[in-house]
Amino acid sequence: MNAIPFNKPCILDDSLKYVSEVFQKGKLCGNGDFTKKCQTFFETGYGFKKCLMTSSCTDALEMAAILCNIRPGDEVIVPSYTFVSTALAFVRQGAKIVFADSETMTPNIDTSKIESLISPNTKAIVPVHYAGVACDMEQIMRIADKYGLWVVEDAAQAVDSFYNGRPLGSIGHLSAFSFHETKNITSGEGGLLVVNDDRLLTRAEIIWEKGTNRSQFFRGEVNKYGWVDTGSSFLPSELNAALLYSQLIHLKMIQDRRIALWNHYFRQLDDPALNEHIVLPYIPEYATNNAHMFYFTCRKADARTALLSYLKDHGVHATFHYLSLHNSDFAKNHGLGGQYLPQADFYTDNLVRLPLYFTLSEDEQTYVTSVVKEFFRR
Ligand SMILES: *Cc1c(COP(=O)(O)O)cnc(C)c1O
Repeated sequence: MNAIPFNKPCILDDSLKYVSEVFQKGKLCGNGDFTKKCQTFFETGYGFKKCLMTSSCTDALEMAAILCNIRPGDEVIVPSYTFVSTALAFVRQGAKIVFADSETMTPNIDTSKIESLISPNTKAIVPVHYAGVACDMEQIMRIADKYGLWVVEDAAQAVDSFYNGRPLGSIGHLSAFSFHETKNITSGEGGLLVVNDDRLLTRAEIIWEKGTNRSQFFRGEVNKYGWVDTGSSFLPSELNAALLYSQLIHLKMIQDRRIALWNHYFRQLDDPALNEHIVLPYIPEYATNNAHMFYFTCRKADARTALLSYLKDHGVHATFHYLSLHNSDFAKNHGLGGQYLPQADFYTDNLVRLPLYFTLSEDEQTYVTSVVKEFFRR
């Protein structure tokens, strides 16, 4: 068996055809035909009110922080067990991050703890749908309504996933998706900002287009365009949009394949002897599984470390995941750290992710799970 990498980006046979169409048209910059096609795909397919493609999910989160008018002194509630960008995008606007713990059953934010973290300075909650599995959005929206807070879904991993039948990304006031090469569908680097709240629609376009009202000008709504607000160059090039579009039109095939692979892992590892050592992922009743990631937790942290090196020695590149942000150097140096968040720490020390990508084969998976089983049998 050849070495099995952790990830291979999804590249389809006909992707080049779409990218070369951009060359033929000779218009490479952003907000062209493919950008619009991608945006329309998400707006009509998932009922997102307005979609703006960005060059990363980090960009989309930064736009969200600007749109929520986050200012120095404002507080934003973020799970500790997440990627740096979830917090950093708000820190750049001057926010103080208030870290929340994860649930016991999933790495998602523990909604029962959110209310105790709210102060008069709280402005927003940023739930992260870990592994594409929904947070308890009904609870989060109820709390946000009660205290008048913005909800920004970090849906980086959550393409084509649902909460009680509602698409993730359609529930918060704003949402951010990622098309980084490690995600289910990819444009190399890429992202998407979803604007669901009417109050933010006009300003979102302006911030997207470097603080100008260029989009309104091209629709004929104003007769000249200029500098009207803050913003940046958040648009991706048409080359990236074309690459993404080539996968969007095959999204169902990509998702079906990933879900089959995920289920295959689950069946192979769902074995009583193994379950003394590891806990398989749990999908709440309100959530779907978009097979973004196959993870499990080891009951003991030292077993996790030993398992990862055993897998590596046998040519399998499995990996751990986030290091809780409340224990990061940044948090400690900025007076944000030091809380006791036992679940976030548990996932930091005990979680394992197995290789999962579109072109992974069942034989490779059987090899991966046989090495996991062999490790715990010794
Ligand atoms: C991947 C990811 C991001 C960052 O996405 P980029 O497109 O690389 O900026 C942010 N949050 C979460 C939860 C992610 O998984």
